[in-house]
Amino acid sequence: MTPPKIALVTGASRGIGAAIAQQLASDGFAVAINYAHSQAEADALVAVLHDQGHQAMAVQADVADAAQVRAMFEAVESALGRVDVLVNNAGILKPAPLADTSDALFDQTFNTNTRGTFNTLREAAQRLNDGGRIVNFSSTALVLKLPGYAIYNASKAAVEALTQVFAKELRGRNITVNVVAPGPVATGLFLNGKTPEQIATFAKMPPLERLGQPEDIAQVVSFLVGPQAGWVNGQVLRANGGLA
Ligand code: NAP
Repeated sequence: MTPPKIALVTGASRGIGAAIAQQLASDGFAVAINYAHSQAEADALVAVLHDQGHQAMAVQADVADAAQVRAMFEAVESALGRVDVLVNNAGILKPAPLADTSDALFDQTFNTNTRGTFNTLREAAQRLNDGGRIVNFSSTALVLKLPGYAIYNASKAAVEALTQVFAKELRGRNITVNVVAPGPVATGLFLNGKTPEQIATFAKMPPLERLGQPEDIAQVVSFLVGPQAGWVNGQVLRANGGLA
């Protein structure tokens, strides 16, 4: 039997990342589940995947910290092997008008969303197996241009820019680098701090008239890292029910 390919999913303790880890495990990958703080959730997901007969591990690292990201890759390589698929899902959203954004909030948003992606991409350049796949995460918020999203959108615009150049810099390695940019998805990141009325307004916006579910996005990632998407490279896929 050929050994499974290895997928490393950042921010996989909860939300979309957890659904991606479950989906990629079902697709046959051995999965490394990165988390920053939610160890109990990450361990519980590993236990579920083990019960299903999949290979999985949890690995703690703050993606904003380059040394921790390096140690994360080393831990995954020791336990599972060299990484074939990197999914840069870890991210934060703390909407605030630009004028009210503190230096600390600006730094936190860019350090997690942008520097976090940069840190893992830089490691992946040395460490990913040839023929691998990378999926980064942006947001449909970028094209909605709603007030309160200036800093978040800027951090995600940078992720799209990194992706499109990095895809070219990996020439000759047969590695694709793409972006998924979800619309509103029913996770803590979107739901926390919103009134039921605000949530209902967002849910009505796409012509499909519902919020996305984590599994909707996990299936898109499954496509992008699978054999059928081998000719898709350097692209942004806005998975949002037709919202924008
Ligand atoms: P979520 O439910 O809040 O989960 C975020 C995950 O990221 C958690 O597992 C969290 O782990 C992890 N994380 C946060 N900061 C981290 C760090 N510094 N290092 C490592 N892990 C970290 O968020 P989500 O909705 O699933 O979002 C996933 C991605 O989709 C994000 O990039 C987000 O910007 C993007 N997105 C989401 C939506 C949406 O509506 N939900 C829409 C568009 C784009 P801990 O709990 O351990 O900290």
